[in-house]
Parts: sequence; C-alpha cells; structure tokens
Amino acid sequence: MSYDIYYDIVFPLYLPSSLIYGAHKHTNFMLGDYVQAEIGKKRIFGVIWGQTSHKRLDAIKNIHTIKPIICKSDVEPMSELMRYFVDWVSYYTLSNRGLVLRQAFPNKKFLTSSQTEKFYYLSTRLPTQSTKTVARVIACFDETDMIAHRLLVKQAKVNSKTLNAMCDNAYLIPVMKKIVKNETSLSKKILHKDITLLEEQQIAAKKIISTLHKKTFTCFLLDGITGSGKTEVYMQVIAKLLHAHKQVLVMVPEILLTPDLINRFEQYFNIKPISWHSSLTQKNKTDYWRQISTGEALLTIGTRSALFLPYKNLGLIVVDEEQDSSYKQEEIVVYHARDIAIKRASLQNIPIILASATPSIESYNNTKNERYTHVTLHNRYGQAQLPQIHIIDMNTENTPAGSYLSSTLKDAIHKQKQKNEQTLLFLNRRGFSPLILCTGCGFRFLCANCDSSLVEHQKKSLLMCHYCGAITSPPPSCPNCGHRDNIISCGAGVEKIAQEVKEFFPDYRYVIMSSDYNENITDMTDTINQIKNREIDIVIGTQLAAKGHNFPYLTLIGVIDGDMGMDTNDPRTNERCFQMLVQVAGRSGRGSSMGKVFIQSWYPHNPIIKALQTHDREKFYTQELMLRKKAQLPPFTRIAAIIISSPYADDAKQYAQTMRHRAAFNNDITLLGPAQAALFKLRKRYRYRILLRTHKINILQPYIQDMLNQLPKPASHIHVQIDIDPIQFL
Ligand code: ADP
Ligand code: ZN
Repeated sequence: MSYDIYYDIVFPLYLPSSLIYGAHKHTNFMLGDYVQAEIGKKRIFGVIWGQTSHKRLDAIKNIHTIKPIICKSDVEPMSELMRYFVDWVSYYTLSNRGLVLRQAFPNKKFLTSSQTEKFYYLSTRLPTQSTKTVARVIACFDETDMIAHRLLVKQAKVNSKTLNAMCDNAYLIPVMKKIVKNETSLSKKILHKDITLLEEQQIAAKKIISTLHKKTFTCFLLDGITGSGKTEVYMQVIAKLLHAHKQVLVMVPEILLTPDLINRFEQYFNIKPISWHSSLTQKNKTDYWRQISTGEALLTIGTRSALFLPYKNLGLIVVDEEQDSSYKQEEIVVYHARDIAIKRASLQNIPIILASATPSIESYNNTKNERYTHVTLHNRYGQAQLPQIHIIDMNTENTPAGSYLSSTLKDAIHKQKQKNEQTLLFLNRRGFSPLILCTGCGFRFLCANCDSSLVEHQKKSLLMCHYCGAITSPPPSCPNCGHRDNIISCGAGVEKIAQEVKEFFPDYRYVIMSSDYNENITDMTDTINQIKNREIDIVIGTQLAAKGHNFPYLTLIGVIDGDMGMDTNDPRTNERCFQMLVQVAGRSGRGSSMGKVFIQSWYPHNPIIKALQTHDREKFYTQELMLRKKAQLPPFTRIAAIIISSPYADDAKQYAQTMRHRAAFNNDITLLGPAQAALFKLRKRYRYRILLRTHKINILQPYIQDMLNQLPKPASHIHVQIDIDPIQFL
C-alpha cells in the first residue's frame, strides 16, 4: 500500500532507531501524537517523532512493506520540547532513545487500558462509490462528529472488519479516547496559608519571586541550615505560581520521606498534590499522567521519574535535598535526576530551586563560580537553635564487647525519658547484623551472586543480600564444617540496637524506622504520627529517620557509629559522611528546647567530625574543594565510567581491554583502567570499569560514542553500561 505521508515513530522499546509508518493525509496526524502501530504482530503505542525524510525513504528497498498507523490516542501530543528533552537525555547519558522514552510512559498499557475506548471520526475523504455497508456507516455520522466503536457496530450493523477496512482507506479516523467518568477537578480554589516570613526568609523568597516574571532559566541554590525555613520559603514561591495556574514539580529523593511534606502542602495550599512514584497503581498512574498532561493537576511531588511527566504548563521545579544520592538512577537509563531537572528547566526557560542544608560539592562550587544564584538562610526558625554536639570517644568508654551503646549515651537517654523528651538512635544499617560467620572454621556467609556478605534480618528471620536482594533462611549449622554452635553475628544493624534498648530500657517505648519496618507510605505515616503524638521514647532509625522530619520533642540524637562509611577510598566519602551527619544532627532540637547530639567515634579527631562539632561548614567545603582540585576530580574535571560486565569474568576483562586498546588518542581525555569495579561481582556478573576524565565539558559523549562505534558488537552476555558523572569516583 502506498501512503501520502510517512512518519518516524519512536517506540518505548530498545530498538536501534525510529521506525517508519504511513498514513493518508486526511488522517491529520500531528508530530508528537501517541499512535498505535504494528511491530511484527504486536500493536504498540509510540510517538510520532517527525516526518520521514526523503533520504530515508529513498533508501528503503520495498516501500510497500511499510505498515499504516492504526490509530491515535486522544491524549495531548508530546510537545516538541519534551521530544527534544528525550533526545537530549539519550544523547547525554548515551542511552537508547526508546528506553528514555519509556521513562515518559507511565506504564505499558496506559493508552489502551480499560479506561479508554475506540471512537471514530468521519474523514473528509469519502468513497466515490460505496457499498451498502459502508453507506450505512457513513449515515451514522449525519448527526454527530464522533461515535464509539461499540455503538457504531450496533447502529450500522457492521463488524469490526468493515470498520478496520474503512480506517485503512482513511474513510474513518480512529481515536482512543478516555471514558470520562465524573472527574474530580483538581483545580479547586487555591488558597495559601498566611505565614509571615522572617526577614532573611523574606529576602530569600523575594530574590526568587522577583525572577518569575522574566520567564528565564535561573538555578537557585536555596542553602539554609536544617530548620531555617527552606520549605516555607519555597512554598511561598510555589503559591505565586499556583495562583497564576502554572504547574510546579517538587522532587524528593524518596517517596517514603514525604507524607509530612504532602500534608504540609495540603494544608498550605488547600489542594491535594499529586504524589508520583514507582509504586503507584497502574490506574493512578494513568489518571495522574493525563491530569498532568492537560495542565489540570497543578502541583506534583515526585521521585526522579516525575521528571519525565508531560507537564503542559510547567512554571517551576524544586529539587529538595538536592545532594541526595537517591537522585541517581543506576539502571536502564543511568542519570542524575538533579542534573536532568536542571536541563529540563533550562529548556523550558523556567527557574529551578535546589534546596539543601548540605549542598553537594558540585552545587556549592557552582555558586562560587556564579553559575547558580546562592540564596542563604543562616538561622533556625523561632527559638530552635543548632544542637550542641558532643563526641563520645569510644576508646575511653569501656563498652563491653558486642554492645553498642556507651554508658555516656545510655545516661543521656535516661535523662531524656525523665524530661519526657525523645531520642533518635541513628545507625544507617538495616537488619540485625551485617556479617555472619563460623568461628570454628572462619566460614563467612556470602551472597552467591555478589561479592558481599549476607545481612541477618531478624524481623523476617532470613539472610539477605543488600545488593541483589537474594534471600536465604539462616542455616542451622555451618555449611562448611557442619558445627552448630560456632555461628556468630558480627557488627550491628538497627535491629541489634533495638535488642540492646529492650535490654537496658525495658519500659521505654521504641520504634524502628527503616525500609523493612516502614514498607509503604501508610506504615511511614503511622510511625511519624506515633512519634509526633509522643507515644514513642526512642526512635531507632536508618537514613529514613535522618531526613526532613520535624519532631518537636526529639531533642537527643545518638549517632551509634560516627565513623561509618569513612573507611572507603572513594574521594566522595568525606562529603557523603559530612552530609549524613549534618542531616541527622538537624533532626534534634527543632522545637523550643535545645537539642543535643552525641556521636560515638573511635577517631574523634577526624576533621569531618571536628567540622561538625564546630558547625564550621564553610571550612569543610573549602577544604574539600581544595582536595578535589589537587586530585583533579569533579567539579574541576568531568568523569565518565564505562562498566563492562559478563557472567564470565575473562570475557568481560578481554572486551574491556579491547575497548581500551582501540580507544582513539585524545589530548584532552585521560583513560584509566580497565580495573575491577569496586563491587567486582554483582548479580552474577563480573564487572570491569574504565574511567575517562577530562577538563573540557561536552567532549565525553561524542568521544565515548566513537569508542563504541569502533568496537565489534559484544557477545550478548557482555553488557556495556555508561555512567556519565558517576557518584562514586573509584
Ligand atoms: P527546613 O526546610 O529549612 O528544614 P522548615 O521550613 O521545615 O525548615 O521549617 C522548620 C520549622 O519552622 C517548621 O515547623 C516550619 O513550619 C517552621 N517555620 C519556619 N519558618 C516559619 C515562619 N516564618 N513562620 C512560622 N513557622 C515557621
Ligand atoms: Zn547479592
């Protein structure tokens, strides 16, 4: 069959390029339309990316094999900007474009789900002579423009085959339409709570608001100590946009951390924000996606996938806790949501606010070189003051072996209870114990798929690998020597701390806050409410407890292992540890009483702990930047990592070596490796890593693309993954 127009369609699938489909000119398809077409025998929705060029058409040997577009969806076409954004993300991250597009599809069936139905328009192209059946179909359109498939079959007394044939001839134009049930309007009247900002908060809000009318891209780093009112400031900015019916996206690192924020937004604005994350039901995803695409849903709080939603009228993006490493997606399309958000804002010519009490070194540096506008808050709101920080030198504490609470910390917990105030014991490790071994023969319980120890979990009474999720039940005896009595757990996770708390403080009410105990938003909200209602004396928590919450009666923090994570060689270790400790310390003393933080450490003179104690943040950043500059690391250079993996270590190594061997010489790029990746074996695959470093921006992608083009296609068991701006440098 020949057509009037040919289109390039991109499908949300791993395909090497767009595919060509044909249409009659009467069908009036538009660029960006979500259309259905056949790939093999499957009908799949993709997006019209453009009209096929003559050059591409001329290269096709048998143009008659080109299939037609079957129908289009009634959703708003994907904007040109959004298509450009998908192209850009694919270019920047060196990921397949189809896989990037898939990030923008809420689920596979969202355009064909039971909530959509096929309708038909009558085209302007009508048959000069028609059969009786066709005439009956045409007559049905005398009084209406559009008829549902079901109805048309009934009224015209025809079958689907006839209707399909009429579509093929472009007499009918099919459209997938959403079945509209009483939709609740999200655009209720927007109010906003009248909160008087403090002077420095006002200055901060004004600085941002004053740029709104300019309709230009500006990146703000809203940098204020914990409890200084960053959220209050950006809510005032958001209010301005919502009143003007502009959409706002607030990004959060992890949805479990947001019940509080959602509540706060609801009270502040009188509208329920859309909460977007990967565990939404398919139906909710479909509904929300559509409400966002029509511009009806004004406020979205979401994790990184919310970046790919089709906002019709986006006016502002906020990235809360911008330094958080959860913004990095490590699979399929490897990207850092903060960086991609900045690109999206710049494409849309809108402002973006990065908020943090401990900005990433990169963002901090970008305020120094004036790429970002620095907006600072120096004081805690109200009577809340920064907590006092005490270091507990574990070398002098004589804490018995196997015990993790020093007597100094225990005394402090006791005093808290007497004052009827709460304690948070922070240890960023899930489960009971990170290592199980047999003291008889030295056997360690390791993951069969990864180079890692299995972590003991008491709640679920199993052993789990925190890298691949593999689980096994704890064996009754050592698999190596067969003895039963020599198996011990080494080191502590939150569950072990809970056991110690139970032993020393049997009457105290405690709760564990970790992803094993707070699996969904409802669990999390329950825990938060229990703490706020003072039904809890001690919170034992991982990083889930460290971020964002506001607990006015929580005035003591005990950091169980202040040295945790500092023993790695990765140059980002200092930054990460400092950020985590500041975050957790920031949970205390947010009400009117003074907060206290006790940090247990075996290395109390460590400069990170010292900087924390003196609240000397600038010193920490200045020193860290100096170190990075000396070592030629980001933000002074750009880095990319290429990970080559295979179930066969030798094959991965060989391919990695070939890759390195064949790489072109470039004066501006330093290549390192291949070397074994930090976690050599992961999910049954052995991993080698090549690092690329340069002082120039914008040369890594074309260089790597070139490098890949030079190589023979790897065997299917060898995977090559590119990570631009990796968060781990080594
Ligand atoms: P941050 O986001 O910087 O941690 P928040 O915005 O959560 O700080 O503010 C900390 C606490 O102080 C919150 O309970 C908030 O409601 C309160 N607060 C901050 N600024 C004001 C203000 N101007 N008026 C009333 N309450 C405020
Ligand atoms: Zn594993």
